[in-house]
Amino acid sequence: MTSAASAPPAAPALEYPFAAPPATGTWTEIADGVRWIRMPLPFALDHINLWLLRGPNGWTVVDSGFNAPPTRDAWAEILPHHAPLEQLVVTHYHPDHMGHAGWFVRTHGLPLTMTEAEYLTAHALYEGTSGYGPEALRAVYGVHGLAEETLVALEARPTSYRHVVTEPPRQFRRMMHGDALRLGDHDWRVIVGYGHSPEHASLYCEALKLVISGDMLLPKISTNVSVWSTQPEGDPVRQFLTSIRAYLDLPEDTLVLPSHGLPFRGIVPRVAQLTQHHEDRLAELLAACDQPRTAAEIVPVLFRRPLDTHQTFFAVGEAIAHLNHLMHRGKLTRMLGPDGVYRFAAHRT
Ligand SMILES: [Zn+2]
Repeated sequence: MTSAASAPPAAPALEYPFAAPPATGTWTEIADGVRWIRMPLPFALDHINLWLLRGPNGWTVVDSGFNAPPTRDAWAEILPHHAPLEQLVVTHYHPDHMGHAGWFVRTHGLPLTMTEAEYLTAHALYEGTSGYGPEALRAVYGVHGLAEETLVALEARPTSYRHVVTEPPRQFRRMMHGDALRLGDHDWRVIVGYGHSPEHASLYCEALKLVISGDMLLPKISTNVSVWSTQPEGDPVRQFLTSIRAYLDLPEDTLVLPSHGLPFRGIVPRVAQLTQHHEDRLAELLAACDQPRTAAEIVPVLFRRPLDTHQTFFAVGEAIAHLNHLMHRGKLTRMLGPDGVYRFAAHRT
C-alpha cells in the first residue's frame, strides 16, 4: 500500500490491542460474549475473520467462511463449544463470507439475515444469470483489452462462485441501513456501504464500542473496488470513498473488527489513509493516460507485482473502476478503437 508513505507525518498510527490472531479452531474473546475466530483461505490473502456473539437464546454467527474442506474442519472444532446456535448474519455475498450460509441454514436450521441486494446477487452469481455469467465477464473484460489467453484462464478458474459457496438459501431475513438488530446480548446498528459489493452491511454496537466492518474498513490492505459485468459504466470508487466517511461518525475509541487483518482503533487516520491511497492511484493513472491506454495496459501501473489468475480478475476490475471514476470526474475521455477496445486518454488543457 502506498498510502502510508504519503500520509502526513503527524497522522496518528493505528492501535492494535491484540498482537496476534487466534489459531484456527480456537478463539479470542474480544469483549464479554464476543469471540473472534479465523478461517483459512486458499489465496494470497490467506484468512478471514469471523465473529460469534453470545446471547440468551444461543450464539449468533457473523459471516460463514469459504466453502472448502479446511473451513468445514475448523467449524467442526469451533461449533461444539458454541451450542446452541441462534442465527447467522452475513455481511455480503463474497464467498469467504457467504460460503457456508447454505450449510448453516440447511444443516443447522439457522435463520439467515442479509441485505436484499447481497442475497439476490449471491443467487444471480450462483446461477450465472442476470448478467453475472462468464460470457458477460468476457464482454466487459474483452472490450477493456484483456488478451484472449487471459480471458480463457479467467473463465476456467476453479474459484468461480458456484464452486466456492454452498447453494444459497431460498429465504432470508432482510436487514437495511439503520436497522437495530439484537445480536447476542446487545443491540447492533446496520451501516450499509457501497463500492465493494452491492449493499454491504457493517454492524455497530454502541454499548461495546465495536464495529464489525466486514470488508469496508481493513487495517492493512485496501478493499477491492471493482467494476462488474452488470454495471460496466459504474463508479464504485466514488461509492466506496463516500461510504467509508460514515465511519467518521463513530466514536474515536471504537474498536474495528475487520474481516482481514487485526482488530484496530483509529478510524479517522485509516479513512484518511484509504482516501489518500485512492487519490494517489488516480493521479498515477491520470499521468499514465498521457497517451491513450486500455484498462489492461493500466493494470501494471496499479499493481507492480506479478499477479496470478485470481488476482488478475480483481486487478482488471479495479483498473476499470479507477478509469471510470476519472472519466466520470471529467479527467479522462474514453474512446472505442477500430479494434473494439476502449482506450482512455487525459484531457489536454
Ligand atoms: Zn468482500
